[in-house]
Amino acid sequence: MEQAARLIRFSKYTIALTGAGISAESGIPTFRGHQGLWERYDPMEYASIGSFIEDPEKVWKALYELDEIMQKARPNPAHFALAELEKMGYLKAIITQNVDGLHQAAGSKNVIEFHGSAKRLICLNCGRVYQREEIDTSVLVPRCKCNGLLKPDVVFFGEPIPEKAMELANQEVDACDLMLVIGTSAEVVPASILPWEAKRSGAKIIEVNLSPTNLTDEITDIFLQGPATKVLTSLLKKMTV
Ligand code: NAD
Ligand code: ZN
Repeated sequence: MEQAARLIRFSKYTIALTGAGISAESGIPTFRGHQGLWERYDPMEYASIGSFIEDPEKVWKALYELDEIMQKARPNPAHFALAELEKMGYLKAIITQNVDGLHQAAGSKNVIEFHGSAKRLICLNCGRVYQREEIDTSVLVPRCKCNGLLKPDVVFFGEPIPEKAMELANQEVDACDLMLVIGTSAEVVPASILPWEAKRSGAKIIEVNLSPTNLTDEITDIFLQGPATKVLTSLLKKMTV
């Protein structure tokens, strides 16, 4: 923890890459790990663009349950700690794989949503974007004014990363000399490649996770094992003394 704090203090450009694990303690289930939702709904089936187009009603029914959880979720101390590090000038950007909007809700400003946002819906026909609140999702399947199918504006398996997010993320990765990798299994491509790219261009890696990942023995410089809320709160404390 001491070493990590020192590294953050002396780095010129620190960024964070976050995954579902940082929102786990806000009550949103991660994909991997033993939790109700994804044991009933295989993400490869329910979060794939192919299945969505084939049977949007089936996918929307599953999304409904996740949507309810997300609407209720509030940022946790880990989200707040990152927002605070940004305010203090220690953290320049967050690239998040999460679609829950909790980094912004905690006050983080420079957030790159690599996988889109569940706070928006997009029409698969005309591309029009709606705010989640504008649409009544209790009537399935929600449709656009043009009658096109509405889909949460998140990247499903089989869809590309939004161009702008990809471009911004690459810029941040190139610029950073330290990357905090928090609560991600680093198994979903291409987000999982970002830490490798950072490392290749000379950045140090601090990883925060409940358990080791395939990055840990390969490229992680400091592994802080534990729940993100606890680890980041302690780290923040070290940065403020
Ligand atoms: P993942 O589910 O593959 O992995 C979660 C990781 O977080 C695991 O390595 C796990 O050990 C770790 N973890 C769990 N609880 C933790 C905690 N309290 N503190 C620290 N670490 C913890 O998640 P991923 O790598 O983000 O990939 C899954 C994909 O699913 C992503 O693309 C993401 O967009 C999407 N997803 C998003 C949300 C969300 O928006 N909150 C939730 C589920 C899935
Ligand atoms: Zn439309």
